[in-house]
Amino acid sequence: MKGVEKAREEVVNFAHIVSREGLCFSTWGNLSCRPEKDRTVITPSGIPYEDLQPADMIVLNLDGVVEEGRWKPSTELPLHLEIYKAREDVKAIIHTHSKYATAFAVARREIAPATEEMAQLFGGSVPAAEYAFPGSQELAVHASRALGKSGFAVLLANHGTVCVGASLAEALLRARVIERSAEILLWSTLLGDPFLLSNGETSKLRDLFLKHYGQEE
Ligand code: 13P
Ligand code: ZN
Repeated sequence: MKGVEKAREEVVNFAHIVSREGLCFSTWGNLSCRPEKDRTVITPSGIPYEDLQPADMIVLNLDGVVEEGRWKPSTELPLHLEIYKAREDVKAIIHTHSKYATAFAVARREIAPATEEMAQLFGGSVPAAEYAFPGSQELAVHASRALGKSGFAVLLANHGTVCVGASLAEALLRARVIERSAEILLWSTLLGDPFLLSNGETSKLRDLFLKHYGQEE
């Protein structure tokens, strides 16, 4: 259970970061990671982020059977489980209620790539999933469907975002870039009609990021 113990700490550390950065607030939003193929560590429901400690995390298998934990797991557990079951590559999920991205989610509009970092990191738009009630299996299915086999994030209609990754750090970066892109798009709309990046330019930026950006290994 060494991986699980480390995962508890990691989820708490990232929960504190998303709360501090305003990506989640009060008790809304939730995080999980998957330290083992059939095991996930998730935040409890309705406990303020700043109070969370590693011992508050809930450990479950992918059928939702609780193995460790004294609290009720997040009400969005079905969402997390549905995505883990559909995507073996996903090892971490952050569900945010960040403001600008949620503005797009309320308008039920995708966030299109309009900046370098958005195009590089996502290589396309972040889609909006169909509306469903929070915590429902229907929401889980809509989100997982919109995420598809290779998506990195989706907007939940009138609700927030879901960002996935091979690690919590990757999911967090995606949550940050989505929020920043949504804010920039909204401001640029105030200035006039924003120019979005074409599919061709977006692919080139994604390619550059994957092949040449940063330091050599
Ligand atoms: P929990 O506090 O149960 O994780 O729920 C918050 C939330 O974001 C519901 O959509
Ligand atoms: Zn939520």
